[in-house]
Amino acid sequence: MRPVLLVAAAIAAALFYCLQTAGYSPMNSSTAFASAGHPFREWKYIVIHHSATRSGNAARFHRFHRYSKKWRDGLAYHFVIGNGLGSKDGSIEVGKRWRRQIPGPHTGDAAMNEISIGICLVGDFQREQPTNSQMKTIVELTRSLQEEFNISIENVLLHREIHSGHTKCPGNRFPELEFYSRLKP
Ligand SMILES: [Zn+2]
Repeated sequence: MRPVLLVAAAIAAALFYCLQTAGYSPMNSSTAFASAGHPFREWKYIVIHHSATRSGNAARFHRFHRYSKKWRDGLAYHFVIGNGLGSKDGSIEVGKRWRRQIPGPHTGDAAMNEISIGICLVGDFQREQPTNSQMKTIVELTRSLQEEFNISIENVLLHREIHSGHTKCPGNRFPELEFYSRLKP
């Protein structure tokens, strides 16, 4: 689907906004842009993460970030892409920070956090690769965000590029070359 249609679909989706019990709503990439009426921030970067866990979902990561990390707004990421273990394979869960258009502490670099969209793929990509559905979704979502916010491929980063030496995120088995070959230049 063309990005213009993606945005149109997102507006339509906003009308059907339904929250799950934990407050996260699984969506596909064509409906991920709904931001609950908050104007979009001027995002400059997109940063890709893995959860470093075999399974999970936005609600589970939210609890970890809120109660173990003590981050006031919880879930640091804007989007979480499921792998079928704890969340639907290839689905997008939209975090509260995206709906409210606020930054999240997802990189360890405060300045970067202010201007970057954080996307987390569920999985431990030191041990395994993302599923095909996850790859399809991360490519579609990233391309759509690139289009919406005019973000070039140079500004689509893997977490370890920001925090080298501190993290391998999103893991050595994340198919970096394939991912970048499928993005908008
Ligand atoms: Zn990370």
